[in-house]
Amino acid sequence: MAITISVLKEAPGENRVALSPDVVRKLVKNDYQVLIEQGAGERSFYRDVVYTEAGAKVVDRAEAIMQATVIATIAQPDDATIDQMKAGQALIGLLSPLTDTDFVKKLAAKKITALAFELLPRTVSRAQTMDVLSSQASVAGYKVGLMAADHFSRYFPMMITAAGTAKPAKVLVLGTGVAGLQAIGTAKRLGAMVSGYDIRPASRGEVESLGATFLTTSVSATGEGGYARQLTEEETAQQQAELEGFIAQNNVIITTAQVPGRRPPLLVTQKSVDEAKTGTLFMDLAASDLGGNVAGSKPGETVTTPNGAEIVGAGDMASQLPASASDMYAKNVQAVLNDVNEDGKLVFDIDDEVVGELLATYDGEIISNRLRSVMELPERKPAEPEEPETPAEDQDDAKGAD
Ligand code: NAD
Repeated sequence: MAITISVLKEAPGENRVALSPDVVRKLVKNDYQVLIEQGAGERSFYRDVVYTEAGAKVVDRAEAIMQATVIATIAQPDDATIDQMKAGQALIGLLSPLTDTDFVKKLAAKKITALAFELLPRTVSRAQTMDVLSSQASVAGYKVGLMAADHFSRYFPMMITAAGTAKPAKVLVLGTGVAGLQAIGTAKRLGAMVSGYDIRPASRGEVESLGATFLTTSVSATGEGGYARQLTEEETAQQQAELEGFIAQNNVIITTAQVPGRRPPLLVTQKSVDEAKTGTLFMDLAASDLGGNVAGSKPGETVTTPNGAEIVGAGDMASQLPASASDMYAKNVQAVLNDVNEDGKLVFDIDDEVVGELLATYDGEIISNRLRSVMELPERKPAEPEEPETPAEDQDDAKGAD
């Protein structure tokens, strides 16, 4: 029986879709069956008919869930969906396992196989084609650069005209990982004067190679796997105080700082917001229900401060460029499927360095050691390779040798 992949329509507000028609065509060619919930691609400008032409079957949600070997989503599906799933079915998406462990427990209790992109070991080279965090951060960084130029009340480039000269906008990007570097590149291409700052000193070369200035504070912190680590309270206070000076000198501040699985660090304090000049624009890519990088930012909302600065809660930027974001996301999903497909069957090797980390749950167990550590569970050790049994004949030989 063919592996059936079902794609569900996301909740309102999420414009992306987990599979693009292009990837559907490739999967169907490789003997997968693909079911698309009616209207799942509409907000990414992929109509049902395009999926049908690519070889998928368009069905209602209940059938998509019931028939699935694996359900591909962008975000966590709602409780009703999980309730309809059966033991042994798989779910792949951005499932927020590190910040919503109750959801993980629910999936484990139902014996659903859950693959969560947040858990992917991104530094393993085989995992790079599956790296949703990078593909979506790249889209988000580009879009936030464009949105910043659109929201800002002045030109980004220097303009010399008969009616006078406009100075270029000064843009500061705080957090120069995948998204921040894209934001820098976009703001540079639009003609702004750009500087970047990150807690990881290794970022300097990347920022400078884009033609931007790298700013440093006396606090630096590189943690595991090249990521930033969480700062201590003292380090945070020191960093915030030093950043206040940089922030005051810029017109547009784009923030993208994250620490995996934790609340985003507060980089722009209430003092900086209160003292910002009228017209200063803060674009907070880290804005989420967990908090953001800018004091007072609210996800999905634009807040105007009493002194006339604007704070845009820009946490959903990848969803604001839905077709490109979905195309990349779909390729990442396809890469995972290719990796676990063995002769037309999905085989999840829990001891594999990539799959064993990507798996939040399998057969009722919490698998990823990173997730286990967050959930304060003991580390899972890989199974010992079994001793090959000595055939009876050899045993006789062995005896004879004695
Ligand atoms: P991220 O989204 O987790 O964080 C964004 C940025 O915020 C990071 O650059 C981080 O250093 C920075 N940050 C965190 N706390 C900060 C603070 N208090 N002050 C200032 N900046 C802060 O990170 P990301 O963009 O997904 O990736 C970060 C880095 O991880 C990459 O630049 C790269 O070095 C590494 N990475 C490697 C691979 C790979 O090897 N294939 C893939 C992806 C990422």
